[in-house]
Amino acid sequence: CPDQGRDGIRPGNLIVLTGPSGVGKGVVRELALARCPRMVLSVSVTTRPRRAHEIEGVDYFFRTEEQFAKLRAAGELLEWAEFAGAYYGTPRAWVEDRLAAGLDVLLEIEVQGAKQVLASHPDAVLVFLSPPSFEALRERLYRRGTDSPDKIALRLRKAEEELRERHLFRYEIVNDDVEVAAMNLVHIVHAERCRIRPE
Ligand code: 5GP
Repeated sequence: CPDQGRDGIRPGNLIVLTGPSGVGKGVVRELALARCPRMVLSVSVTTRPRRAHEIEGVDYFFRTEEQFAKLRAAGELLEWAEFAGAYYGTPRAWVEDRLAAGLDVLLEIEVQGAKQVLASHPDAVLVFLSPPSFEALRERLYRRGTDSPDKIALRLRKAEEELRERHLFRYEIVNDDVEVAAMNLVHIVHAERCRIRPE
């Protein structure tokens, strides 16, 4: 695939992996990243409490609602959304710098945020990860055990809405098998890198 544009570095692609909570975006993302040395993951800002295994700056930047509101007001977030009672957003400058340097940048975000990217970055490659069935999603959320039954019910209601919106995106991958799903994402990333762009 061409690494160089006509006038020097060819900017990277903004790859957005979206889909309902619990569908397995995190695992698919990790497997795909390990196979795409020129793709980097954007670390989001969130106001939700840190889970025991999570590390500041690796999994998220954990911030207060006040700090989040300031970032938003200053236009420092490329997209943001409220999800299950917390705010989540993508730091804009970090992403734009990496794209300009020729790296592909992967965002793993929920559907409202992905729709904002659709509007603001028409060239972004939006990939919807869907569950093999709604029942499979319910089971995964319970098995994951990170949320209370109330939160799970909220996430499932949201998932129903999100599944209806998947036609908005460029690609759909069904997460029946994480290895296969990750390989499909890798193939999409490679194909998009070989795409001929208008001059
Ligand atoms: P969790 O709380 O389980 O880590 O994430 C909840 C949801 O927020 C997931 O669907 C995750 O993909 C999404 N998310 C994580 N970071 C961002 C972000 O920066 N923006 C948006 N819109 N969603 C995000």
